[in-house]
Amino acid sequence: MAGKHKPQRTCVACRQALPKRDLIRIVRRPEGGVSADLTGKAPGRGAYIGPSRECLALAFQRRALERALGVALSDDDRAGLEAELYRRRETCPYGGGSATTDAAAETEPGAATTDETD
Ligand SMILES: [Zn+2]
Repeated sequence: MAGKHKPQRTCVACRQALPKRDLIRIVRRPEGGVSADLTGKAPGRGAYIGPSRECLALAFQRRALERALGVALSDDDRAGLEAELYRRRETCPYGGGSATTDAAAETEPGAATTDETD
C-alpha cells in the first residue's frame, strides 16, 4: 500500500531533492552562526544541504543558508561549518574510524637513534 515512504528534503544550494538521510542538516545556533546537526535531532530551525562539497560552496555563494535560516554568516562561521563537515567525512587517525592504511608501520622514536656523542 504505502509504496515509497522515504522522506525527502531539498538541498538549499542546488535545489535537488534527496532522501533526508543523505542530506546534512544545518541548524542555527542559539548564540549565532550555524552548525551541522549530525544527529538530525537538534532543536531549532534547520536547513538541508547535499553531502558534496559543491553544495556547500554553492550554498555559500548563493547565501542559501543565510536565507533559509535567517542568519548572517561570518567567514569564521563558514570556515567552521566547512571544517565540521570535513571532519565528518574524513577518517580521523585518532577518532577510531576504519583505518585501512598501514598504521602499524610507525617507527618508535628513540629506538634506533642512540648516536649521541658525549
Ligand atoms: Zn545540493
